[in-house]
Amino acid sequence: MTAFGSVFMPEMAISWFDGSNWSPAETVPSDKLTLHPGAHVLHYSSTCFEGLKAFRHSDGTVKIFRIDQNIERMCQSSDILALPKLDKAAVKSMILELVRRFASEVPEAPGSMYIRPTHIGTEPCIGKAASPSLTSCFYVLLSPVGSYFSGDTSATLRLLLEENVMRCAPHMGVIKSGGNYASALPPTMKAKREHKIDQILFCPNGDVQETGAANAILIDGNQLITKALDDSFLHGITRDSILTLARDLGMDVQERNLTVTELLERAAKPGCEIALSGTAAVLTPVGTLVYQGEEYKVGNGGVGATTVKLRTALNDIQWGRAEDTHGWLTDI
Ligand SMILES: *Cc1c(COP(=O)(O)O)cnc(C)c1O
Repeated sequence: MTAFGSVFMPEMAISWFDGSNWSPAETVPSDKLTLHPGAHVLHYSSTCFEGLKAFRHSDGTVKIFRIDQNIERMCQSSDILALPKLDKAAVKSMILELVRRFASEVPEAPGSMYIRPTHIGTEPCIGKAASPSLTSCFYVLLSPVGSYFSGDTSATLRLLLEENVMRCAPHMGVIKSGGNYASALPPTMKAKREHKIDQILFCPNGDVQETGAANAILIDGNQLITKALDDSFLHGITRDSILTLARDLGMDVQERNLTVTELLERAAKPGCEIALSGTAAVLTPVGTLVYQGEEYKVGNGGVGATTVKLRTALNDIQWGRAEDTHGWLTDI
């Protein structure tokens, strides 16, 4: 099977900001982009992106999940990075039009079409290390993806609890920006080598935060606990959706700080579950925690029943098998 995100539709939607205006959206081949080698993004990381999905329903229609939330977050990322202001309506119509163009390529369930809007600073000026790019480019890529869970459905992740390294600078946490992933890469590679883990769960000073690209959720009986929103981590739309569905199911949802000590104490209890939430991973179960050289099983180390229940509830809405009571789906 090809790696997630390595197959692209042959065309992308694109628009350029020249310092005053956005160019009319165009559809162009998606295998090349011409930039000056001195472009701001290539030196000073003025870049942000989004990740959302379109789903094919059994009646043949295609719907996009929570597109307005992703556009809001992209605009916030652009603002924090001092990139030119995006036009929300234009961004939305570019995404909808592109998905409509490739609607016949949206895979059947359990696959989906991953949508990757991207905004980069293009000003050719290497003297602007400490000032923003006045020009930019916004484009949208499409990548059909299969099920994250195809194959071994009993697989669980192994996470390292890391208290001494941060994923990214705390004031950048809410942005889906390239530099944040570069920042998380060295500790992640080191941890994979030394502890054979899949991901690091970053817990700066003992505060359980998130992994490199997903939010962390603890499920203990009827309680669901996850870090309350602050500027230090990415506010996942999957996280928000799972919390909403858990409340719908009558669960006691607690958004609050969680310490490594409490996490380890609870994780050891039979029936306890930990899961990672994100657009790509949906809700992925964690089976093992590694902390200070020791291994701790989460519950019985297998896939938790509540994790599966919540993931199924979310997937059922996405694929039109359950009613979209929260208005999360948009027609293309
Ligand atoms: C994208 C991302 C998430 C998950 O966000 P979703 O909106 O649920 O896809 C969580 N953490 C990080 C660091 C991310 O980049």
